[in-house]
Amino acid sequence: MENTEIFEKLQHYYKEARALEIPETKRQELIYHAFRYVDQFIDGIDGVKGFGKQKARFLEIGDKKKSITELIDLYQSEVIETGINAASGKHIGYIPGGGIFIASIADFIAAATNPYASVYYANPGAQTVENEVVAWMKKVFDFPDSSVGALTTGGSTSMLIAFTAARDKFGVKNEKVTKSVVYMTEQVHHSAQKALRILGLEDVIVRLIPVDEHFRMKTDELDALIAKDKAENLLPFLVVGTAGTTDTGTVDPLDKIADIAEKYQLWFHVDGAYGGFFYMTSKKSLFKGLERADSLIVDPHKSLFLPYGLGAVLIKDAKAALHSHYYTANYMQDTNHDELVQSSANLTPELSRNFRGLRLWLALQIHGIQPFIACLEEKILLTHYFRNQLMALGFNVGPEPDLSVSYFWYPFGEMEDQKNEELMNKIHEDGQVFLSSSIIDHRYVIRMAVLSFRTKKETIDEAVAMVKRCLEEVKNRE
Ligand SMILES: *Cc1c(COP(=O)(O)O)cnc(C)c1O
Repeated sequence: MENTEIFEKLQHYYKEARALEIPETKRQELIYHAFRYVDQFIDGIDGVKGFGKQKARFLEIGDKKKSITELIDLYQSEVIETGINAASGKHIGYIPGGGIFIASIADFIAAATNPYASVYYANPGAQTVENEVVAWMKKVFDFPDSSVGALTTGGSTSMLIAFTAARDKFGVKNEKVTKSVVYMTEQVHHSAQKALRILGLEDVIVRLIPVDEHFRMKTDELDALIAKDKAENLLPFLVVGTAGTTDTGTVDPLDKIADIAEKYQLWFHVDGAYGGFFYMTSKKSLFKGLERADSLIVDPHKSLFLPYGLGAVLIKDAKAALHSHYYTANYMQDTNHDELVQSSANLTPELSRNFRGLRLWLALQIHGIQPFIACLEEKILLTHYFRNQLMALGFNVGPEPDLSVSYFWYPFGEMEDQKNEELMNKIHEDGQVFLSSSIIDHRYVIRMAVLSFRTKKETIDEAVAMVKRCLEEVKNRE
């Protein structure tokens, strides 16, 4: 193609293409609308229900261009007013978190400036911010400096990365797969089983270790099973302990599991996706042994209240962590090999990705750590308060909780499961506060997970009033 022709065509495309670089006054207008909307959202959040409409209208992408205000209105009615209001303190089901505001500022800056955050060479500063966040976590969880880590999108991805390292360290592949054994309890999060399947370990033997009345792993049974498996020439390689189970908030006896893992030389993985950061609270002694794990996952988007999209993994054996994830290609030849573990691309499946570390780095720099710890302590107390109020209403509650998850059911006498399910449905219809359900000990129960930084005493009072209201309706139908 001749230059004259190129210039002519460039001229043609220039006008339309330039629409992507928005001029200053228009930028300010967009920011004004976006921030005004967010301000109103946050100011009004206590007045909004925890659970909204259960269907969204089809949000078609058509040819007609729309304005930001029109789209914000649509976003409010079809996204925010549907499903669980996860930013609200009234989300007390599943595992909430809330989403602290400062993180949205960090995400805004990170997205607008768009540094490349997964290869040290490409942006030493961005990678250093992320590495600093990882270093901070190593210190928090008493992991050695020599361990490696990375920021991920959440617990499920972190789990994959940790299990990959365990698999590679023990060379679990080919004919070894069907003889290899993984140990966990039935209370383990489903992302653990899912990770095994994704990693080509679907056919390993999974031993579900029985739990005690607090749903903690029975470690003598773990020990006995490993010994038996070894005697039968199987290949035990991985044991998973949970520091805060999703269903009941239980912390496994990590120190004892660590002893056993050490005795039989297994990889000890700790899942702290929900409970991890309670390590910083008055509950620390419950977590004894966590620091002995070979790998640890935590989710700042749960127990540090960040918006969704931030998990972390720490791994002690750098070589095992690098084995599957380190890759070099011709077009990457400018990266320096000394920088291997400084670049998260060598430790995770991702290459190009968002600069996700800024949100936590900024939050810790601006708030310090104390408000986070205070919020976690507050959640523990609110869980006890919620349970007390429910007991006063005649509910049965689960065992004394380790952290901030518990459950309850009403002793209806006959058809107890059906009636508690009915009560759950009523609660969801009511929607004032969102709770979730589970089957625990073969019983239908209603769960509370008090973790949003916005959940306060008033929120629990609202929840109790709602439960009372719904209980009366179910009773009146009898
Ligand atoms: C939430 C959770 C996970 C999965 O984490 P995601 O961030 O949702 O992918 C894993 N383990 C436990 C104990 C959890 O609570």
